[in-house]
Amino acid sequence: MPALPIYLDNHATTRVDPRVLEAMLPYFTEVYGNAASRGHSFGYQAKNAVEAARAQVAGLLGCSAKEIVWTSGATESNNLAIQGVARGHSDRGRHLITVATEHKAVLDTFASLAKEGFDVQILDVRRDGTLDLDALGAAIRSDTVLFSAMAANNEVGVLHDLQAIGAICRDRGVVFHTDAAQATTVNPLDVNATQIDLLSISAHKMYGPKGIGVLYVRRGRPRMKLAPILHGGGHERGLRSGTLDVPSIVGMGVAAELAAAGLSGVGDLRARRDRLYKGLNAGLSGVHLNGPALDDRAANNLNVSFEGVEAEALLMAIREIAVSTGSACTSATLEPSHVLRAMGVSDALAHTSIRFGLGRFNTDDEIDYVVDKIAVKVTELRALSPLYEDQPETATWP
Ligand SMILES: *Cc1c(COP(=O)(O)O)cnc(C)c1O
Repeated sequence: MPALPIYLDNHATTRVDPRVLEAMLPYFTEVYGNAASRGHSFGYQAKNAVEAARAQVAGLLGCSAKEIVWTSGATESNNLAIQGVARGHSDRGRHLITVATEHKAVLDTFASLAKEGFDVQILDVRRDGTLDLDALGAAIRSDTVLFSAMAANNEVGVLHDLQAIGAICRDRGVVFHTDAAQATTVNPLDVNATQIDLLSISAHKMYGPKGIGVLYVRRGRPRMKLAPILHGGGHERGLRSGTLDVPSIVGMGVAAELAAAGLSGVGDLRARRDRLYKGLNAGLSGVHLNGPALDDRAANNLNVSFEGVEAEALLMAIREIAVSTGSACTSATLEPSHVLRAMGVSDALAHTSIRFGLGRFNTDDEIDYVVDKIAVKVTELRALSPLYEDQPETATWP
């Protein structure tokens, strides 16, 4: 019997690796100088730690340390990238393209630019969440300045073909931004191999602390003109003013190094995810996979709908298992996830969807416990449901 509760919500956030925490601690109480203070050793030491961490993150992304800008997380990185390019390149064009299944930090940034008068185009996806690259090619115009598409989807684990997208964008002179917050622990990313111009990541999605992130900004050709959002002391080459959070930066550096080393362990993560899916299917009928085939998605992601069982009700019944639903609970309504909706999943199935996000700390024992518990609870809830008949052929759902 595994220790409870069991954490399977690693798309939302991850536990801080003890090695990350340990590296951070001296920077609160011993090396507490301002990294911008040049006149004394407190400042120098802090600055040295920041630069070492910058090199560690650059190592994960295959870029130069000079191309790393510290931010407060992927939300800020996305805002800086998208608003920055839109405003910085507005003399060249005002057409911006993204995808319907992006994170809200991307979609809402595009929406706010649309309100300001930018010409925003949102591409649809196929049923499995993938992008039609011909549609991207057709959407790009002479006044298109930016395309943004995520590296790994946070709900269904879709992995867009970044290499092909990068080639299209480079060929057509469009800046390519990717939100890679979910990719760092499961998918090797090399910004040069993929011709990515801007990339957002977040420490707390890779076993680091919350509140710290990075925007990778390509230097050289094509020349990037990023308009900053925050103005002030001119930190980070003027792109992001504000005193650097040295302990968190140190933590993110170590997290990046561990992520690069840990990519070799992705096979174990995938095996455990597959064990979960097989187990659920062995114990239950009416389990629908949402999103791409397992082999084609991020190794840590599983998103399934349990026919006839409201996800919120299942969540209540399995309180010792931390997962999330495919619906965003607001005070008045249960809105189905915009990602499932964009993939054409019916509202009925979206309301029954559960997202499992596996992490490095999960064990086979935990997976087996989760499989058994969910099989029991789904069966119980279905027996209570007026909408669900036990025989699949006579099922009235959806
Ligand atoms: C978590 C996440 C974000 C937001 O990152 P924060 O660092 O929490 O601001 C953005 N995009 C994706 C894909 C994410 O998973």
